[in-house]
Formats: sequence, structure tokens, C-alpha cells
Amino acid sequence: MAPQIKYTKLFIDNEWVDAKSGKTFETYTPHDGSVIAKVAEGDKADIDLAVAAAKRAFHRNSEWRQMDASQRGEIIRKFGDLVERDLKYLAELESYNNGMVLAYASLFIGSAVNNIRYIAACADKIKGDTIAADGEVFSYTLRQPVGVCGLILPWNGPIFLFANKVCTALAAGCTVVVKPAEQTPLTALALAALLAEAGVPKGVVNVVNGFGPGAGTSLTHHRDVAKISFTGSVEVGKLIQQAAGANNLKRITLELGGKSPLVIMNDADLNLAVPVAANGVFFHQGQICIAASRLFVQSGIYDKFVEAAVNYAKGIKVGNPADPTTQNGPQVDGEMMNKVLGYIEKGKKEGAKLLCGGNRIGTTGYYIQPTVFADVTDEMTIAKEEIFGPVQSILKFDTLEEVIDRANNINYGLAAGIFTTNVNNVLQFAKHVEAGTVWVNTYLAFTPQSPFGGFKDSGLGRENGMDGVLAFTEVKNVVVSL
Ligand code: NAD
Repeated sequence: MAPQIKYTKLFIDNEWVDAKSGKTFETYTPHDGSVIAKVAEGDKADIDLAVAAAKRAFHRNSEWRQMDASQRGEIIRKFGDLVERDLKYLAELESYNNGMVLAYASLFIGSAVNNIRYIAACADKIKGDTIAADGEVFSYTLRQPVGVCGLILPWNGPIFLFANKVCTALAAGCTVVVKPAEQTPLTALALAALLAEAGVPKGVVNVVNGFGPGAGTSLTHHRDVAKISFTGSVEVGKLIQQAAGANNLKRITLELGGKSPLVIMNDADLNLAVPVAANGVFFHQGQICIAASRLFVQSGIYDKFVEAAVNYAKGIKVGNPADPTTQNGPQVDGEMMNKVLGYIEKGKKEGAKLLCGGNRIGTTGYYIQPTVFADVTDEMTIAKEEIFGPVQSILKFDTLEEVIDRANNINYGLAAGIFTTNVNNVLQFAKHVEAGTVWVNTYLAFTPQSPFGGFKDSGLGRENGMDGVLAFTEVKNVVVSL
């Protein structure tokens, strides 16, 4: 049964309101492409109202700014409890609107709850330093919230990313205006209702659904917004960097795309490496920024590995994401599905060896077969561009030296992984690979404490954990004459 859709309006100043223009837009389920709700379409006028509410809530005398850090932490912790209470419903809604397989949506929201609890505990651990306490001055630093923040979300992990961004900003004491992705507007509204229930005061969290050009650009150009935290494509990230400097000088955190290398050495444990590599690229139909989308396999085990990888991919059950036995669901929409199918055609045309999959499944919904290409070379399009689909591209290499150079020979630098039993390989790879996260004999493993972000075009700054909280603060130096 389809989950009930409780909220479709904008959430501004703790009120549910229509867009000023009265406009709405349709949102769909990728399972069959049918319309599931009409959602208020925010634009500049609504962003202005939301930013004004967030600015009032950030005033030094406001209820929010007067709270102790531990009280902020308590509200965030309560929010985590409410997300856990409603986990089943939230997972169903996420799966329905986004196509994430229900079982994975539940796991993902479970990790979001762990993150929320960790972030809640960070709120009263923010501290400054004593710089000098003798001589002629007493000099110390304060860590203070940066101000009103615009949080712009992508569609691929709406609940997880909303929770991380909003809670780190709140732990620092900021107020926020969230702009969810137009493809997945529903879960952010459900989470806003839980934040209000947890006791977040008026205006501290506002959610304005709408489109990039419109609600998104109004937020990134707004003079009263002090920081933008954005997760999405490199292309839009670059636009945001420009917009952030256009009126006032906004602080920015950018979490962008990836083309992450996963390296399998001859000495790797293949029983472990084959399923982990498959999960690394097929999880959520390949729609994750850290997808292991360049799989480098050493020549001594190449043929054996490729055979096992193909067998694994053929065994993945694709179907309705609400079915508890499904492993892969649909791509988020028809546009993304066609983009992925276009990359598969390019792979074939440029000479990669298609060993399984490669086609759309059925004619309703946006399902694609798990696809494996072998004999992929560095200059092929499927080895260079982010596909964001269930496509495993396998490349052959001979030495560690060679593979480190090839792994780094790209403008992305989000994540990387290596499977090996040789500690020297681990240390060399971890030292030299250009990536914000490096996994060893695992992939996609996270802890709530870990900072997350990218080298090169994969982003700017770090999110998550204490690093994520501090990214929402300014350092102030106070110098007192003694
Ligand atoms: P996108 O860049 O198209 O859109 C992301 C958000 O930006 C949406 O809310 C959209 O409405 C908004 N937007 C679009 N144009 C805008 C503009 N000019 N000004 C302000 N806002 C604007 O990305 P997407 O297609 O939703 O998400 C997929 C991308 O996100 C992939 O490239 C993926 O790798 C990346 N991603 C990165 C991470 C990470 O943490 N590094 C995590 C998830 C997704």
C-alpha cells in the first residue's frame, strides 16, 4: 500500500503555507512514473519570507540564540528519536518518491539516526582556544554560528542528507532554509514536521520546495544568507560558487560528483572483493556520488574476477522497491534512465566489452538491468564521466604505481578503495590516491565521526561529524588588555 502523504506545502516560520504564487508542481514515483502528489512550488518571494524568518530566529535575543548549546543538542537528539520512531513510514515515503529499495532506505535512515545522535552530542563540545594569557594581553577565540544558511539537496539520498546538513547547522547554532531537490520534495517536509515536534523554535528550520532556477538561485543570491551548503552535480556546484560571491561573500561547502576508483590487487580476498565491489557500484542503482564506478583489477586475477563479477550482477534481483526481496529498484526518473542508457550505448560504441545487462527492463517505470563492461580503457567515456546508474566498468592494470597514476588522472576525487592483503600496498595507496575517503578491504563503510568531502572537482570543504559542525561556525579572536 502506498504511504500516506501528509505534507505538501512550504514550511516557513513553523507554519505550513502555500507558495505566494499559488503554484504547485507534480511529483512522481519512479516505480511506474505516476503522479503521487502536487507540491507547493516556492520561488523568490517564498525564499525571501523563509530567509526573513530564519534571520529573525538568528537574532541575538531570539529563543534559539538564547539557548544553551546543550539544549540545542537535546532538541537534535529528540529529533533523532522521532526519526527512529517513524523510521518505517519515512523509509516507505523515501522509497515511494525516490525509488530507493525499501530495505536499503530503512538501513540508510538507521545510519542517519546514528549520525543525528552523534551530531547532537557535538553541540556542547564546540569550543574556542586560549591563545595567550600572559604578557600584555589575554587573547582567546570564540566559535560562533555563521548565520542563516541555505542548504540545497540532491534527490539521491534526501533523508540522509537532510538530516546531516540540518543537524550539523543546528548544532553550531545556525538557522536554515532548506531547498530539497525537485524530484524528491516529500521527505524533507515530513522531517520538518518532526523537527517542530522535537521543539525547534519558529523560523529556525524552513523548507522551500521548488526548482534550481527559481527557489535555488534566489537562495544562493540572497544577501542575508551567510553560507550555502550544497550537495549535487559539479556543474551546479560551479554555478553556486559564482552565485555565492555575487552579492555578499557567502561561505560554501560543496559535495559534488565522483568517478571513484576501486582497486583489486592480485592478493585480494576475492570472496570479499567481488560482492563488495558489486555493492559499491550497484547500491541504489548506482545513484550515489561515491559509486565505485572505475573498478581496476590486477592482471593476475583479471579473468577470474570478471567472471565472478558477471555472475554476481546476473543474480541481482531488480523490481518494485517496495518488495522486501528486491535488491535494485528504478532510476529516479525517465531523464536519468535515458542518460544512463546513453552511456551504455557509448560504452558499446567505444569498444568496451558488454558482458551482461545493458537494457531497460519493461516499458513502465525506469528500470535498467545491472550492467557489466570489461576491457574498459581510461579514455572511454564510461571511464571518465559520472554515469549515476547500475554500470560496472572493469579496467585492467599491472602494477600499483601504474594504477595510482591512472586512478588520479581525472578531475574527480571523492572516494577510492583498495582490496589487498599487503600492508605496503595499503599505505602507498592511501598516501598517494587523491580522494576525500579511502576504503581498505571494504567500501561504502561510514562512521558518524568521519569527515566527508572531495578533492578536486568533487567538492570544497568537509561535512559530517565535528568537522561538519565546525564548518557552520566562524572563529572570532578576542584580545583583552591585561
Ligand atoms: P543537481 O546539481 O542537478 O541538483 C541538486 C540541487 O541543486 C537540486 O535541489 C536542484 O534544484 C538545485 N539546483 C539546480 N540548479 C541550481 C542553481 N542554479 N542554483 C541553485 N540550486 C540549483 O544534482 P542532482 O541531479 O540532484 O544530484 C546528483 C548529483 O549529486 C550527482 O552528480 C552526485 O554525484 C551528486 N551527489 C554528491 C554527493 C556528495 O556528497 N558528494 C552526494 C549525493 C549526490
